[in-house]
Amino acid sequence: MRLVDHLRRTPERRSCEHIDAIAEPAGPRASACQECGVRVSLRVCLTCGHVGCCDSSSGHATAHALKTGHPAIRALPNGFTYCYRHREYF
Ligand SMILES: [Zn+2]
Ligand SMILES: [Zn+2]
Ligand SMILES: [Zn+2]
Repeated sequence: MRLVDHLRRTPERRSCEHIDAIAEPAGPRASACQECGVRVSLRVCLTCGHVGCCDSSSGHATAHALKTGHPAIRALPNGFTYCYRHREYF
C-alpha cells in the first residue's frame, strides 16, 4: 500500500517536509563559495545560509549538506530548491 502510494506520487505535489520544516529559510552568508571562492552556480543552504558551489564546480554545497545533515539548498540568485533527502527539485 505504502509502496504504491510512493510510486504514484503526483508530479504536481511539489512539497517536501524537510523544506517545510524550515520556518524561515536562511539568506546567503557570502557572495561566493565559502570553500573555494567560486562565484557561479552557487547554492545556499536553507538551514544556515552556507554558500557553496554546485557539483559542476567542486561540489561544496553538496559536501556541506553531507557533513552537516542540512537537507535543502536553493540555487542563487533565484533558482530552484533542491532537497538532498528526497534527491528532488522543488
Ligand atoms: Zn525532502
Ligand atoms: Zn566551492
Ligand atoms: Zn547548512
